[in-house]
Formats: sequence, C-alpha cells, structure tokens
Amino acid sequence: MSYQTINPLTDEVLKTYPNHDAAYVEQALVKGDVLYKQWRNDPVASRGPVLNKVADLMAAQSDALAKILTVEMGKRFVEAQGEVALCVTIARYYAEHAADFLKPEHIKSSIGTAQVISRPTGILMMVEPWNFPYYQIMRVFAPNFMVGNPMLLKHASNCPMAAEAFEKIVIAAGVPEGSFANLYITYDQVNQIIADKRVQGVALTGSERAGQLVAAEAGKNMKQSSLELGGSDPFIVLDDANLAEIKKIISGARLFNAGQVCTSSKRFIVTEKNYEQMLAMLKAAFAAVKLGDPMLSTTTLAPLSSSKAKQNLAQQVRAAVENGATLAFGSLAQNKPAALFEPVILTNITKENPAFYQEFFGPVGQIYRVPDEAAAIRLANDSHYGLSGVVFGSSSEHATEVASQLETGSVFVNSFGGTLPELPFGGVKNSGYGRELGRFGIETFVNKETIVTKHNPINLDDAFGGFV
Ligand code: NAP
Repeated sequence: MSYQTINPLTDEVLKTYPNHDAAYVEQALVKGDVLYKQWRNDPVASRGPVLNKVADLMAAQSDALAKILTVEMGKRFVEAQGEVALCVTIARYYAEHAADFLKPEHIKSSIGTAQVISRPTGILMMVEPWNFPYYQIMRVFAPNFMVGNPMLLKHASNCPMAAEAFEKIVIAAGVPEGSFANLYITYDQVNQIIADKRVQGVALTGSERAGQLVAAEAGKNMKQSSLELGGSDPFIVLDDANLAEIKKIISGARLFNAGQVCTSSKRFIVTEKNYEQMLAMLKAAFAAVKLGDPMLSTTTLAPLSSSKAKQNLAQQVRAAVENGATLAFGSLAQNKPAALFEPVILTNITKENPAFYQEFFGPVGQIYRVPDEAAAIRLANDSHYGLSGVVFGSSSEHATEVASQLETGSVFVNSFGGTLPELPFGGVKNSGYGRELGRFGIETFVNKETIVTKHNPINLDDAFGGFV
C-alpha cells in the first residue's frame, strides 16, 4: 500500500510518502504510553488551553490547510475552508465543555455514598477516511485529547498530505510529546497496534468492510471500538411539505462534497402528491451544477476523490440500470476527464435491484414514489443502514413524530442538517455503533470508575441479592 497525493482533477501524482517502519511505530507507542501515565494524574481542564491553541493555529492557517484538501481529494475550496472552520469550533467546544462533561457523578447508594469518576483508558488507534480529512480526525482528537487518551492515526492512503498537515498543527500548538502521531502504515500494522497491550481502543470511520475487519481485531483483543460507517439516508417529503423550502437545500442535500458524505440524502422518498414536482426540482438542481476545477469559486460540483472512485461509481450506476432502474437524468458514459463525474438521477429502483440496498458515494440521487406516509416510513427503514435522515412536512410536530419512527442515528426535520460540535453523530444497523461529537462523543473511550468513599457496614447477602 502506498500513501500518495494524486490531484483528482488531473490524475497527476504530486507526492508519494514512504511507509513508517516498526521502529517508528514502536517509538510512537512508547511516547504515547509515557504520556498516558502522566495525563491520568492531570486535571482535564489543564489540557484546554493547548487545544484552544490548536484551534487558533487552524483558523490562522485556514486557506493553506483548505488548499491541501482541494488539491488532494478535490474538495471545493470554499467547502474546504468550511471544513477547517468546523474543526476550529469542535476543538473550542471540547476545550470549553470537556471538564464539565467529565466531572464526577455522585450516586446515593444503600451502602453510603459513591462517585463515578471519568478516567482516560490509554492509547487509541484511529482509522479515518478521506472525505473530510481534517474533520474526521478532529471528531476523535478533540474529545480524547481532553480525556487524556494519546492517539495514533492511520489516515486514508489518498490523503497523506492532510494527515501530515494536521500533525504539524498540533505539534506547533505545543501538545505534549506522545499526544498524537500520524502513521503511514499497512492494515497489518494497524492490527498489530490494536493487539498491543498499551492500546485500549480503536475508532474507525469508513466502509462496512473496513469496519467489520477492524472491529473483529478489536474484539479478538478485547479492545473497545467505535464504528462510523456508511449510510443511505432517506429524505422524506410528506404531503404537506413546503417545496419552496426544499428547493433551497435540495442540491446541497445530495451534492455537497461531490455527494461523498455519509449523511447526504441518498434516497428521496416522496408521497404521490409531490412526486412529479420533486423529480422536476431534483433534475433542475442537478442540471444547474457547474462541474469543474474545485479551486474556482464558479464551480459548484467538484470531482470525486479519485479516478478509481469514479470508475466504481459509474459501474454501480450501470449495474443499477441493467437491473431495471431508469436513468432519469445524466449519462452512463461519464467521459469527462480524470475524476469528474456528471450527476445522475435514478428512478424505478425495485427491491430486487442490488442498487436498492447499496450506498452510492457520489452525485447520484435516487428518488422513490410512495402512496402515503406509512409507506414512506416503511421504505426509509427498509435499509441495511441507519445513519441519519431528513423529514419535510408543514406541521413540525407531525414531521417530528414521523422522524421518531425512523431507525436511524439522527433526523433533521424541515432542514438539511450537516454536523455541529454539540450534536451527537453516529448510526445503527450497518452504519455502525457508538457516537462521536457532543457530550456522548467524549464518553466512548473513558473508564467510568466507581469509587465508594464512605459506607455503612455491608451485609453481603443483601448486597448480592442472597445469591452468594
Ligand atoms: P474505507 O475504504 O473503509 O477507508 C476508510 C479508512 O479505513 C482508510 O483509512 C482505509 O485505509 C482504512 N482501512 C480500510 N480497510 C482497512 C483494514 N482492513 N484495516 C485497517 N484499515 C483499513 O472507506 P472509503 O470507502 O474510503 O470511505 C467511504 C466510506 O466511509 C463510505 O461508506 C462512507 O459512508 C463512510 N463514512 C462514514 C462516516 C460516518 O461518520 N459514519 C463519515 C465519512 C465516511 P486505506 O485508504 O489505506 O485503504
């Protein structure tokens, strides 16, 4: 496996990075372990100032950091600037709130009084994808830095420059040695790290296949894991939905980040009344995009992350059509240069079509016609995934009631949500388990240690329910 920066607009190889050897990895483990042993005695709040400094440096270097994303994975420059800004807010959020989230909880017990304190667990391995190269790291880095868990990163092999830039920023901010190490390593080396006694957990964001393999290693070694995997999120349009509001967001809901967002709306599910108008709106939105150079402010749709991703997506679309789907917009040829992918709309996808249960990770919209709301909910839940979703209806109360019937990690009512530091993020079913961000996101790799500090004499028969 080689770590390479390849510009997806041109297919030009800009830089190849050599892999790190076993000695380099061992050094990172030693440093991380030394730091963990020191950090577990330090108060959480003591780490806040340096995390704020990371945020300051990211904000100050926003354009340079953003340009790396544009060149390396083809993200529109303006979206890349937005990603950097989001990282800044996540870092500041945890710097401000972590001590409160992790403060001791007092419990009244029949034995007396007890408290549950939050302790770090040790070094974490994080395995991250290329679609939001900085944000994916920051979701794990900021909370766990405050917890006191040192971190090792294996980033996607097509964004080594972003991984390097993130590491440089945290070092420049003055984080203690051992806090964070970017490693260019193989899958086998990831497995060896997971098995290492000094490592206590692994956080992976990526595909189902990677999630299965990495979680299996974690299970084999009895390590904690969290998985943020794919999604095929529904966008439900109820009879009373305000289509003018939908028109404002429909393009972004599917095409933001060139459609390569785990929570983008991949299945538009529309009741009979609004179907034709929604299809027309989606076609108009897709027809209006300007596909091209992601550095240009006039471009509204960037290339995919690589030519390989383009070939795979084009093949997935062809297979969907061969299995009976209708190509309602776009072409099967996809003959623009390098990783440029023209948007596609598919209709008439039946349950027998393999596409029905697949995630399309790019600018491909699926639209489904359903007779009524009950059918919309059934179809939304008929998915291997359950990551996020959208429900539009004029009665917010009723739309919220529909939202609560979806088997998914989050739902946005009458808006297309995105992600914010305070909102927990994660899924159910094949979309993974565990949560990142918000209060819940800081608790995954924390030892909730119960300390009974004062107690009355204990009658063992009572305490164990008479079973001992
Ligand atoms: P991927 O192939 O699974 O890659 C993700 C990361 O996992 C990369 O760093 C990859 O390294 C690594 N990896 C893959 N197999 C591995 C193994 N056996 N052992 C160790 N590391 C391994 O994912 P992708 O296809 O590039 O990313 C897109 C997927 O991620 C989509 O399904 C998307 O929905 C999902 N995603 C989910 C979220 C979320 O928060 N739920 C967010 C973003 C993306 P290499 O690059 O070296 O192969």
